Amino acid sequence: MIRYIIAMMSGLLKFLFEALWRSPVICVSAIAAQAPMAALSPVAIAQSAAPFSLKPLTYNESALAPVIDAQTMQLHHGKHHKAYVDALNKAVAADPKLQNLSLQAMLENAGALPSAVRNNAGGHWNHEFFWETMTRPDAGGLPSPALAKAIDDQCGSLQSLKEKFKTAGLGRFGSGWAWLIVKSDGSLAITSTPNQDNPLMDVADVKGVPILGNDVWEHAYYLTYQNKRADYLDAWWRVVNWQVVSARYTAAILPKQIEKKL
Ligand code: MN
Repeated sequence: MIRYIIAMMSGLLKFLFEALWRSPVICVSAIAAQAPMAALSPVAIAQSAAPFSLKPLTYNESALAPVIDAQTMQLHHGKHHKAYVDALNKAVAADPKLQNLSLQAMLENAGALPSAVRNNAGGHWNHEFFWETMTRPDAGGLPSPALAKAIDDQCGSLQSLKEKFKTAGLGRFGSGWAWLIVKSDGSLAITSTPNQDNPLMDVADVKGVPILGNDVWEHAYYLTYQNKRADYLDAWWRVVNWQVVSARYTAAILPKQIEKKL
């Protein structure tokens, strides 16, 4: 019976981690458990000349204004993100060894793959994640009770999290991303990565599952904010979809709660 329950739980964990693939200033860890992050198994994708595609936005290009203007959205999604997708398809088409790798596997092995794969697989994943993180200004609600408690316990307060996140975004010299992640021990951390790297990559200084991320490349904000990255980082909170972020938190933390009970 116990073996049966363990087998059931293992199956659930595997399912959750496989579902999760899409989806550093440290917020002090309040969780002592040191469960290792489960390996995300590579998932074979159907072989095709262009396996990756640019999904349409789920809102129109002016939906995030005035926080992010329509022209920025148009260029950012239609040109920049598209360029990452096209370059990734080109890199895969040129190298048979890449043709059975999922996007997830490319991220996890980025350090061993050509830089074109690291940059463009990261660029594709990061931007899909970014579009899904946002919604109309002031429509994104608040963190769920569980996420709010984790933020209060580990970061001090939501305001303190925002300040640390801003520091991470401002501290990223050149281009890159600021992230809120769930680390392998279940704790929250704020981190940043250069270029199109992300915390799922083997090369990341601080690894974890991203639940929130902001693009601090100039192409993300320059038309409205010019050189004032700090103003962009402040304004951006108005378009954060906390429902999405909270759901990602729940998905990231649940397997760790089950592990603790086992
Ligand atoms: Mn970008």
